[in-house]
Amino acid sequence: MRDPVADDTALEISEALRRNDIHAVAVTMVDNSGVARVKAIPVDRLAQAATIGIGAPPVFDFFGSDDSIAPGGSPVGDLRMIPDLASLRSLGAMPGWAWAPADRVSLDGSPHLGCQRGFARHQQDQAAGMGLKVEMAFETEWVLDAGPHSIEGDGNPSRLVPVTTGLAYGMGRLVDVAGFSTELLVALAGSGVEVAQLHPEYAPSQMELSVTHKDPVGAADTAVVVRQTLRAVASKHGWRVSLSPAASAGGVGNGAHLHMSVWRDGHNLLAPAAGVGSAGLDPLGEAWMAGILAALPALMAVVAPSAASYLRLQPQRWAAPWRCWGRENREAALRLVGGAAWAGMGVANAELKVVDASANPYLVAGAVVAAGLDGMQRSLTLPPEVKIDPALLDEPARHAAGAVRLPQSLTEALDEFDRSEVLHHAMGNQLAEAFSAVRRAEADRFAACSEDEIANASRWVW
Ligand code: GLU
Ligand code: MG
Repeated sequence: MRDPVADDTALEISEALRRNDIHAVAVTMVDNSGVARVKAIPVDRLAQAATIGIGAPPVFDFFGSDDSIAPGGSPVGDLRMIPDLASLRSLGAMPGWAWAPADRVSLDGSPHLGCQRGFARHQQDQAAGMGLKVEMAFETEWVLDAGPHSIEGDGNPSRLVPVTTGLAYGMGRLVDVAGFSTELLVALAGSGVEVAQLHPEYAPSQMELSVTHKDPVGAADTAVVVRQTLRAVASKHGWRVSLSPAASAGGVGNGAHLHMSVWRDGHNLLAPAAGVGSAGLDPLGEAWMAGILAALPALMAVVAPSAASYLRLQPQRWAAPWRCWGRENREAALRLVGGAAWAGMGVANAELKVVDASANPYLVAGAVVAAGLDGMQRSLTLPPEVKIDPALLDEPARHAAGAVRLPQSLTEALDEFDRSEVLHHAMGNQLAEAFSAVRRAEADRFAACSEDEIANASRWVW
């Protein structure tokens, strides 16, 4: 049914895994609710799985973040999950285990049109077809929780118990979580993840990790491995990890900011390019950013797709709920990171700050590439740069500066998404409609809930 070469490669890989005491492979997909779903196989079955896949019902496309099934999900039919052997790696935090992301195909071997990873790959290929190389990296922020049964815990599972009283960016906090952090770094290295930086973040008990950039599919794969590794390492300490955009209601949230650069002929199109476009960028790089800004209200449904996302997206929490761009402006949804002249053009990138970990990273990667390419195809230009915190301006001044508030609820974002030709065209109807059904169901489920109820129900989901 599939490439016979995959058979030989899979046999060689399973031999190598066995030699390294790896006995099983976790094969995952990330569904439209942002949850990683898994089928695991013994190493002996890898060759077969690489050839004929592993059964997975199409109803996975309609699963919600509470395991409910959105309208459209049917118990009938089957799909195959094909482990991507080129992306297989051992899991440093789960001895004996390897991991591979799945591409989903129909029973006749044709690509499944609802496959989120297939969508990201298709967009990556579209960019390559235009002579472009896109590089991406997701940051990860999380809050460490000591669990309801810790000394400070009162047994209430819905209350967060910080594992440390150390301050934001404080060395004291790093000291308190030093053992966890070492294990995390070792486990990630053992899983083939190249870490760039680790630091205590602003919210209580919050940490952040950044990784080196990869192609869009590779960046999404890395995000999956990082999140699961965090969970595995924390559980060894009896701790829990909240990756929720709103670990608690009313405070600073967890982002999953997306950094990106776009290259053509070895040149970074987002690097400062004096004297060309009005934004000081190569016109193609400017058009890429302008495309993202143009699609942003609709993109919000993909990158901030849960009810909890909108608890996080408040002004002055560096979650950047404003539709604007600015150099090094942490309240602008699209922040241009120029880097330092002496560091070379490789470091220049744009950061989409509104993204959070309730989003499917493959859908984020694919949708952002689609929006950037659309900007290039239409030669869009950027509005003026916003150089201050928009919250400090009154409404008319903010309007004049071009900083408009992005959608403030999941329903508002989904209304924009359902109207977006760019995203529907890129995702195709099957994926776009299943995604919309799942997220609409989530919006409906939380419609009458308080902020605390949303935060409590979302805290441990992703
Ligand atoms: N925690 C903030 C957020 O919700 C981001 C902080 C930062 O700029 O790294 O996105
Ligand atoms: Mg941060």
